[in-house]
Amino acid sequence: MKKFQPTSARQIRRLFEYMRPWRGYFAGGLAALFVSSITSLALFNYVGHLIDVEAGLLKESAYQVIGWLAIILAVQALASFLRIRLFAVVTERTIASLRSDAFRSLLLKPMAFYSERRVGEITSRLSADITSIKDTLTSILAEFIREIIIITGSVLIMAWTSWQLVLFMLAALPVMALVAVGFGRRIRALSRQVQQQAAEANTLTEEALQAIASVKAYTSERWEIQKYDAHNEAMARLGLHNAWFRALFATVVVVVLFGTVVAIVWLGASLVARGIITHGDLFKFFLLSVFMGASIGGLAETWGGLQKALGAIESLFDLMDATPEYNGVPPHRPIQRLKLTGDIQLQKVGFCYPRYPERKVLHQLTTTLPGGCVTALVGPSGAGKTTLAYLLLRFYEPTEGLICIGDQDIRTFDLQSYRHRFAVVPQDIVLFGGTIFENILYARPEASAREVEEAAAKAHVLEFVEQLPQGFQTLVGERGTQLSGGQRQRVALARAFLKNPDILILDEATSALDSVSEQMIQEALSKLMKDRTTIIIAHRLSTIRSADKILVLHKGHLVEEGTHQELVAKPDGLYAHLTALQSLTSPVE
Ligand code: ATP
Repeated sequence: MKKFQPTSARQIRRLFEYMRPWRGYFAGGLAALFVSSITSLALFNYVGHLIDVEAGLLKESAYQVIGWLAIILAVQALASFLRIRLFAVVTERTIASLRSDAFRSLLLKPMAFYSERRVGEITSRLSADITSIKDTLTSILAEFIREIIIITGSVLIMAWTSWQLVLFMLAALPVMALVAVGFGRRIRALSRQVQQQAAEANTLTEEALQAIASVKAYTSERWEIQKYDAHNEAMARLGLHNAWFRALFATVVVVVLFGTVVAIVWLGASLVARGIITHGDLFKFFLLSVFMGASIGGLAETWGGLQKALGAIESLFDLMDATPEYNGVPPHRPIQRLKLTGDIQLQKVGFCYPRYPERKVLHQLTTTLPGGCVTALVGPSGAGKTTLAYLLLRFYEPTEGLICIGDQDIRTFDLQSYRHRFAVVPQDIVLFGGTIFENILYARPEASAREVEEAAAKAHVLEFVEQLPQGFQTLVGERGTQLSGGQRQRVALARAFLKNPDILILDEATSALDSVSEQMIQEALSKLMKDRTTIIIAHRLSTIRSADKILVLHKGHLVEEGTHQELVAKPDGLYAHLTALQSLTSPVE
């Protein structure tokens, strides 16, 4: 468990930095909080007066005291209203900028960050942390400050009334302080564990629902439910364990507190009998000590809440702090105009994924992918084709060797401007939940409607869009589920046309389409690849016969390279073997 150490203080200061622009509102809120707490103390004080006035011990009339009480009540009502209103402004604004920064920092994280974590876990941890911080800013912090004011104020008023009674009461405080510190630590550690468990359970829900079709197809509902229930049970146990501590804490506090109150009433009664204090004083003292007692009891809850928020602040900033891909440069910086039309040279490129630094997935690759030509990457599953494409996209950096385009080391290009010259048509095309138009526009948000339509025409998207009642404005459904596989591919191609990249990476879809779709896609692809450096990650060898160059990878090694004709001419070669295998399994091709 993390202790409350300088790191925690630093994280809190960071949170205050987010609140800084709203410090005027915060100060106003604090002032209102102060006034509302003081007025509630004054209210109790005057109630005591009322008793002494009626007993004829004071000069004021009862109406005067009632008048004062009414004014105090009005001030308190106004102050409470202002407190909530002003703190709400601070909270909403602070949380909005925190959320926006968190989202931004997530988008700027390198791919390595995501290959080590589950997305569902990140999103649910983020939302739980932010909710907890929001709760704190909205009410827990104010509550905590109010309780402190009330406790201090009550002690002061009570001391003014009778120092003997207060001294007696204060003797009980160190006991409570010790209890609070001991329990606080425990509660905080447990809260953090509960939050983690909750995040894991959310991840399970999200993953199961996202893959609902597979869950149903494999009838693995029961298995998913069991997995979820195990987490759920662990979460409930932890929650109960935590509640046990909280309850024990509150009980100990209440016992110490009310024990003290009983003793005070007894001692107070003897002071009244000896004429040292009045009945009104004793009543006031009694009211204030109950009020103070409630505040001390409430401190247990609010302290727990603050500890929880502290855990959330730390975990949120930890998440935000992992190194960004763009070295902290905002993504809306102007894009430089680069030309990446030259040859791509690989010089002894080796690579291991950061997660498994011992396991090499690419070994000493040295070759050239000619600029403006089509190069196909071929090889059995797991050979490293996708990995090589990732290195070209600079999702990862090679662990050995160098990649150059037109003789320039790719690491020297500005990352965003570099990637801007690429278009990728992936295997499983994910569309965003907007309209078809927006999905194409995604490639270049500044493009005009005309350009989008032109791109759509080239990719044969127009053919099916025209059949739809709402045309381009048709919503594609979550992740594009309302379009067929072939239609989605055509939308993805339209995106690539609109992007007009220097380098095109095609991860060829494995599933075969019907022949009309296939023909349209092939035709669109040849248009798209014309005079562009194209890299095809090929699964069906029949589609790459005309590639200018074929690189054959096997277990991360480059085992052969050449054109189709050259490679099939080597009867013992891997390519010839793979081609023979495919023509056996799919004789039509
Ligand atoms: P396929 O044709 O099946 O898509 P591929 O040739 O594209 O395969 P890669 O995806 O490049 O193969 O994978 C090469 C190797 O790297 C595999 O052994 C794989 O297990 C490993 N690998 C891929 N992604 C990661 C990752 N994020 N972290 C660790 N290892 C990975």
